[in-house]
Amino acid sequence: MTYIHYGLDRPYKIPKNRTGLRHSLISETKRYLTPEQLHRTAKMTTTAFINGRIFLSGVKPGTNPSPTSPPTFASALVIKDSLITAVGSPSSDPTIAAALALPDTTVVDLAGKTILPGFVDGHMHLMLLGQSLQKLDLGACKTLADIQSTIRAYAAANPALPRILCRGWMHSMTPGGVSAADLDGLDVEGMDRPVLVDTKDLHSAWCNTAGIAALGAEKWADVPGGIIARDEAGRPTGVFSEAANITYVWPWLASVAGMEERMDAVRAAVAAYHAAGYTGMVDMAMDEGAWEAVLALREQMGGDFGMRLSAYWLVKPSASEAENLAQVDRAAELAGLYNSATTPDCRVVGIKVIGDGIIDACTAGLSEPYSHDGTGTNPIWTREELEPVVRRAEEKGLQIALHAIGDATIKMAVDVLAECASPARRPRIEHIELASKEDADRLGKFGITASIQPVHADPAILRAWPRLIGKHRCKRAFAYREFADGGAPLALGSDAPTAPHSPLGNVYVGTTRRSYREPEMTTTVNENFALGLCEAVAAATEGAAYSCFEDGRLGRLAVGLKADFVVVDMQWEKEKLMEARMKETWFDGKRVWASDE
Ligand SMILES: [Zn+2]
Repeated sequence: MTYIHYGLDRPYKIPKNRTGLRHSLISETKRYLTPEQLHRTAKMTTTAFINGRIFLSGVKPGTNPSPTSPPTFASALVIKDSLITAVGSPSSDPTIAAALALPDTTVVDLAGKTILPGFVDGHMHLMLLGQSLQKLDLGACKTLADIQSTIRAYAAANPALPRILCRGWMHSMTPGGVSAADLDGLDVEGMDRPVLVDTKDLHSAWCNTAGIAALGAEKWADVPGGIIARDEAGRPTGVFSEAANITYVWPWLASVAGMEERMDAVRAAVAAYHAAGYTGMVDMAMDEGAWEAVLALREQMGGDFGMRLSAYWLVKPSASEAENLAQVDRAAELAGLYNSATTPDCRVVGIKVIGDGIIDACTAGLSEPYSHDGTGTNPIWTREELEPVVRRAEEKGLQIALHAIGDATIKMAVDVLAECASPARRPRIEHIELASKEDADRLGKFGITASIQPVHADPAILRAWPRLIGKHRCKRAFAYREFADGGAPLALGSDAPTAPHSPLGNVYVGTTRRSYREPEMTTTVNENFALGLCEAVAAATEGAAYSCFEDGRLGRLAVGLKADFVVVDMQWEKEKLMEARMKETWFDGKRVWASDE
């Protein structure tokens, strides 16, 4: 018998202003596993974890624990190979006692630590996350001058890069607006590389004049729901938003990145997710370039890249219904090849349609005009355009995910799903940030999963909302309590890389409605809509697994399910979640990450 004992813990201080993203990505990118390392522990083994607190949510998949339900813990967990074989207490469970008596069982004394199911990020962007690791972070900049000097220094330090890619720009840093000219002349003497800057939310991109030329943006036609900023003569001035960004800039970025670069991005994202405590991800805008890299990496790693990946294929608004439907057909073709029967850890499960933008950019579809300037924004798709797409997906057996943030778009999304989607196929709405009471209640009625990202409800990033939508409408923001009470299955996600991806940070915001980004901030956002702690942890594990039909094999700590779990040093108290420390991540019965603290 091998006996492992965890040592005493050192106190842990949360770094100030940490974004989660930077914290784990930058420090962990070098730690990804080689195929040899990942498979090294693959021999038939039994491991028993004792003296721990093994979280049992104890509810039927697809339902939520009550907000006040106390947690239930077992004290021991036994795994054999890739599966959980026992959960309970050594004194009352003969299977555990028998496992402990075997000579070759490895026994791990958890010394009071908690085991949670491996987290499943219910909404994230794999390729964008991976690529963001390779970009210059402008998140610390306050002004245009800061942005310019940061880029200038980076360009000088990286003369070999073919292009300068940056992330983390916020409109609040450049209140006077921006154009290509603001990024011209920042390169080193004699070089004029394309400079491309993403907003923090990834909804807009801004580039220099060399960037406009490299993108070929002079020839771009306007697209529905997109904005190409233009001068009086109609020439692009260097800022592309919403559908224009998705339709033109993202594919360009994907096309200029070579296969190796894209595979590296996926590998880095998986490593960052292991370090954060994830064993599953739901990609919410899969496309050809990313999928090709995922498949190549999977093959290189012997069919296993250490993550349960479920992907929703992005259907972009196009000029005709036939083009829209062709995208759905492509998703169906891939789902026919990559599904639970053929490649259970690497599946195309459905389609994603982006119904509107975001409140901060005033691109979310609202039923009443924005408060500060009286303008209105319509959803990107009309109901007439959306319905055939949803019907085709339904016919093809695909799941449907609709991004809807503003109340008008949410209403349309619920209407369309109620009319055209079968509850048995677990349709879902992403974000649901400003729902009416009526629509919040309707989600459960139609079996619609509320796919929510509490990190977007962080008070630190909502400072503009009262001005943009008025205080009365802010009271409706992020109505999670109503979604759950109405019977909607909840799935928690981070929307990384647009927001920090720490799973317990996400749970912290969902349960306390306080800021994860600025923990010293005491503001709460509609505390009446808070989730209970068990409820939020379940939504971040089994709820996210349920959202894409993974609940039969993962998401809970139960016999027969996959041995995907995390060891956490934590107290079961929402106010103490910021102090929790991930210690280990286990995937498929193998330890794929361990903290070096
Ligand atoms: Zn997203």
